[in-house]
Amino acid sequence: MVTSIGATALSNSNFNLSPYQLSSDGQDIVVIGAGVFGVWAAYHLQKSGAEVTLVDAYGPGNARASSGGESRILRSDYGDRLMYSRMNIRSFDLWTKYQEEWNASFMYPSGRLTFYDSDAEPRLKKVQSSLKELGVVSEILKGKEIQYRWPQVNASGIDLAVYYAGGVGGSSLMAREACRVVSEQFEKIGGKLIIGRVQAIPKKGSYDVSMENGEKLVADKYIFACGPWMGKVFPEIFAERLNVYRRDVFFIGTPAGDNRFSHPQLPIFSFNNKENSRYYGMPDLRGLGVKFAPWPDLNSIDMDFDDRMNHPIEVNRLRNFLSQRFPELVNQPIVGGKVCQLTMNEDSHFIIDHHPDDSKIWFACSGSGHAFKHGPALGEYISNRILNNTSLPEYDEAFRLKKV
Ligand SMILES: Cc1cc2nc3c(=O)[nH]c(=O)nc-3n(C[C@H](O)[C@H](O)[C@H](O)COP(=O)(O)OP(=O)(O)OC[C@H]3O[C@@H](n4cnc5c(N)ncnc54)[C@H](O)[C@@H]3O)c2cc1C
Repeated sequence: MVTSIGATALSNSNFNLSPYQLSSDGQDIVVIGAGVFGVWAAYHLQKSGAEVTLVDAYGPGNARASSGGESRILRSDYGDRLMYSRMNIRSFDLWTKYQEEWNASFMYPSGRLTFYDSDAEPRLKKVQSSLKELGVVSEILKGKEIQYRWPQVNASGIDLAVYYAGGVGGSSLMAREACRVVSEQFEKIGGKLIIGRVQAIPKKGSYDVSMENGEKLVADKYIFACGPWMGKVFPEIFAERLNVYRRDVFFIGTPAGDNRFSHPQLPIFSFNNKENSRYYGMPDLRGLGVKFAPWPDLNSIDMDFDDRMNHPIEVNRLRNFLSQRFPELVNQPIVGGKVCQLTMNEDSHFIIDHHPDDSKIWFACSGSGHAFKHGPALGEYISNRILNNTSLPEYDEAFRLKKV
């Protein structure tokens, strides 16, 4: 069966998989994990005519998953890694297209403001001009203008910032909601969703893939998109390759009747200047509170069994930071907290490749703290690669399962 997802009119981002003539050859595919990698891969594969079953231990965008946070940032600036800028541009078009098509609202044009030390200017100008060639426009701001435009943030001592006015340069995505919506749409086009844990038991150079109760999952291909759990499912492959780090996230309540910290008054913000504690965050969206997350933050976590209580040390660190940069929020309550985890590998590239000994088993993982925004384009890439053997050499090489 050959179908087209009819997306060829979307932007010319050079993340180019056109023409979208996808052939499933009637394949049965099981996708394990309904985080952002899994739901979008399942959706695109099903749309291409494959018979797809999506299985998740706790459900799409669940509270333990890395995709289970309230919100995630979409941005194009990736320094000299323009392959991700191009993929983000493609994703932005797809988020926009599907949001309209499904009458959903999981994306906000927040804008994005990043603070730097003055010596970063030559590097920022380089990034600015390479992104301009891709159609992504930014402003480099200096001195008093920064404080003038965003008086609700204390920018004292900061002389340099970059601002993207929403769209592909800086938007907010409602993360767990988007996973739920994509999964629902996947079911609407005939996909099957199962809640349960899957195991892959090595057997004579291959694997027996089954539910935890032993029920076999028989398919032509399996795509394991288990995010931070990959080291538990395939310890022989991923224990050495992936590191999983705990991340505390806070939501601070805005003062009553005060919308200066809410969308669209406050953009996404990130302090990349050399301070003791670095934070990034997002404006209050839908009354959830202003999001703050420390960066970097490298503690370990067990996804299945650890309590997800915010650490008192992190609360103190955040209050110190607020007193410096958001003095009007320092006495506001924490109205929400989350403990999530990043899955990192050495080069921060995603891993999309088949098992070295068994070409039926595919891996789609290693979000490395930046995969959410790329979900729709990743789903498209995975679907094309697996069904059609399509090659995008730069991406295939970057996403290769590399030796450790
Ligand atoms: C605090 C934080 C902030 C972030 N900010 C951003 C951002 O601003 N922008 C951005 O683009 N990215 C961001 N990221 C990264 C992004 O969220 C992740 O890269 C992405 O969500 C990873 O998705 P995933 O599908 O690989 O994993 P997950 O979302 O964790 O999904 C894996 C799924 O697999 C299931 N599973 C695991 N084992 C099994 C099994 N044996 N059987 C069945 N199911 C199983 C789990 O239940 C889970 O649902 C952030 C991450 C964190 C933690």
